[in-house]
Amino acid sequence: MGTEDTTKPGAFFPAENADFISEFIKEDLKSGRFSYVHTRFPPEPNGWLHIGHCKAFYIDFTMAEKFGGKCNLRFDDTNPEKENVSYVDAIKRDVKWMGYDWEDREYYASDYYEYLYDLAVKIIRKGRAYVDDLSEDEISEYRGTSADRRTAGKSAVAVTPPGRNSPYRDRTVEENLDLFARMRAGEFADGAKTLRAKIDMAHTNLLMRDPVMYRIRRETHYRTGNAWCIYPMYDFQHPLSDAREGITHSLCSLEYEIHRPLYEWFINEAGVFPSRQIEFARLNLSRTVLSKRWLLQLVQGKYVSGWDDPRMPTIAGLRRRGYTPAAIRSFVSQIGIAKTDSMVDIAFLEYCLREDLNKHSRRVMAVLRPLKLIIENWPAGTTEELDAVNNPEDESAGTRKTPFSGELWIEREDFEEVPPPKYFRLFPGNSVRLRYGYIVTCTGFDKNDAGEITAVRCTYDPETKGGNAPDNRKVRSTIHWVSAFHAVPIEVRVYDYLFNAERPMEAASRPGGSFLDSLNPNSLEVIPSAYAEPCLADAQAGDRFQFERLGYFVRDPDTQEGRPVFNKTVGLRDTWAKIAKNK
Ligand code: ATP
Ligand code: MG
Repeated sequence: MGTEDTTKPGAFFPAENADFISEFIKEDLKSGRFSYVHTRFPPEPNGWLHIGHCKAFYIDFTMAEKFGGKCNLRFDDTNPEKENVSYVDAIKRDVKWMGYDWEDREYYASDYYEYLYDLAVKIIRKGRAYVDDLSEDEISEYRGTSADRRTAGKSAVAVTPPGRNSPYRDRTVEENLDLFARMRAGEFADGAKTLRAKIDMAHTNLLMRDPVMYRIRRETHYRTGNAWCIYPMYDFQHPLSDAREGITHSLCSLEYEIHRPLYEWFINEAGVFPSRQIEFARLNLSRTVLSKRWLLQLVQGKYVSGWDDPRMPTIAGLRRRGYTPAAIRSFVSQIGIAKTDSMVDIAFLEYCLREDLNKHSRRVMAVLRPLKLIIENWPAGTTEELDAVNNPEDESAGTRKTPFSGELWIEREDFEEVPPPKYFRLFPGNSVRLRYGYIVTCTGFDKNDAGEITAVRCTYDPETKGGNAPDNRKVRSTIHWVSAFHAVPIEVRVYDYLFNAERPMEAASRPGGSFLDSLNPNSLEVIPSAYAEPCLADAQAGDRFQFERLGYFVRDPDTQEGRPVFNKTVGLRDTWAKIAKNK
């Protein structure tokens, strides 16, 4: 852990380590079920990708790479109400940013409408599908489940009594073919008819009780426009799209396990390439929600500034927060591939992030809550250029010059008029080391009429340049600073978790509850007037830094009233080590 090269996709994947998906694939290659490996990542373009999707496409791309195969990017876009091209663009950008390349294998389920239609006709001809006139509500009532449980995951396996056959179930093949063609031709109103698979209305898996294959919806699709007024349902479309692309292993999260019999049923009945579905545990992360549906609600309700708000668990949000692709890959590879769902502590994600940032970020100084420090014996009007190390973890990062003068900004909390016990920073009579600079001794302070401290006064010792204490003086603290004459004003945004609850979704399952119940009202703190070393004036959006003693920060694309904005990515202190120790 921690020493591998995380800069390459898949680099973290423990090749010798037996995960169950690799084992299945190996068996399939050995038995001759497949002679090659081809996977796909199938996002629905109805929102931006989140870190759960990173786990999914990490597995898809890595399995392909590991077995010398390929991985397609396929937009699973058969739900016109919710999909649009801006989501397609965001998804492509984010997968690329994560370091994955689907080359020219970019596919759209909506390109398969004609192919899917033909297969539906084939299934009708076999007598295994029929056109139904029941309404959606009637269908679920006949099925023996209430409307709100129709799409529920595991609860679909039920002890409920057998359902009832639809009165339209025994239509002849000819009649079904005719009605289905007329559904396509737009002869019927939305919802007036559906095409259903003829499976078994007494099946213990409710999803197998004659699932809907097509519904009528007069919606403009972002790719096919108004060419179609019938749209295929996921359970019918997905396996057949996989088959069409020659996908050998269709890897997906655990909630699709219950859909697998249906996946196989459609492949069999359509007589197409026998893609195999394998499920893995979904990523759940504490203190956040991982579902586009909930994330969309946060965006639409303006609880966040957008899909890329730095508090969002989306790839774009993480990027804007200062996360690196390497840190995210390191995280998804280390959490492993399991068959049972679990919750991952967000502190572990932050641990992976710090590991990476510590190695690669440039150190600079910035002061978030400034207090003036006046050096009374500094030669008036002079500036000195001090040498500062850019990254102690990486010698090649070199050094820089940073200006030092008779007036500095220091952190307000680095001075106390009356020091509490064990306080070793500035207070009258005490000395501290200024990072890269001199030892200074506090001689006093100024207060305004309101009793607020407006400046701290001190003297410096010219003999202590670079922090030397020639006479073995005991100086117990080093504080950071910026030269008041040279510092650039910046805005800093400090974030806390979006939710106070470990599992915000738990509230949603209580009557009258909502995942919004535990929304943290203090998840964003804006510090409008902080100061940074002059070199930060040139920082480009996305540049990452360690502000010494404060944490890791990234230059945001925003500028506020001429001040460049920096986001706090994560603090320096690692809470994961502590949590892991107590486990
Ligand atoms: P969401 O609930 O976020 O909308 P989804 O499953 O509806 O998720 P899709 O765009 O359909 O989103 O998902 C694309 C792929 O990503 C699927 O194979 C799905 O299994 C996988 N996936 C989605 N969320 C997670 C997650 N939290 N952990 C692992 N894989 C996930
Ligand atoms: Mg989905």
